[in-house]
Amino acid sequence: MQPMEAEALNEAIAKARAVMLRAHAPHSGFRVGAAVVLSDGAVFAGCNVESASYGLTLCAERSALSAVIAARGSLAADAVRLVVVATEADGPTPPCGACRQWLVEFAPNAEVLAVARDGRSASWSVAELLPDAFTGDQLP
Ligand SMILES: [Zn+2]
Repeated sequence: MQPMEAEALNEAIAKARAVMLRAHAPHSGFRVGAAVVLSDGAVFAGCNVESASYGLTLCAERSALSAVIAARGSLAADAVRLVVVATEADGPTPPCGACRQWLVEFAPNAEVLAVARDGRSASWSVAELLPDAFTGDQLP
């Protein structure tokens, strides 16, 4: 894939940070926003939504991927170009294990960019985040 233009990248980061402010995180206080950038330039955002039962909490990454699927249906493997994850932490926060599995299934060729409050960032390919992943290919 071509490198993303700075303007588009900054727009995606701004969207992730904006949606982070809408997170429902009364239990952890850890607000997260995610922006999923498609190959056609469309951007879908999602935030974490916590449940009092904790285990039903939905992360920002899966929230944003759900928004993409709700809008576009099933995606081609290369449809998602970038997933930005914004937090208020002091350093970049990588996706949790559940989100890594979703990334493998719905955005296998995406870059994941984690941006912290202070502007520090880190990025990974999805394969780096979850090597030797289980996928539908293993199902009979
Ligand atoms: Zn997660």
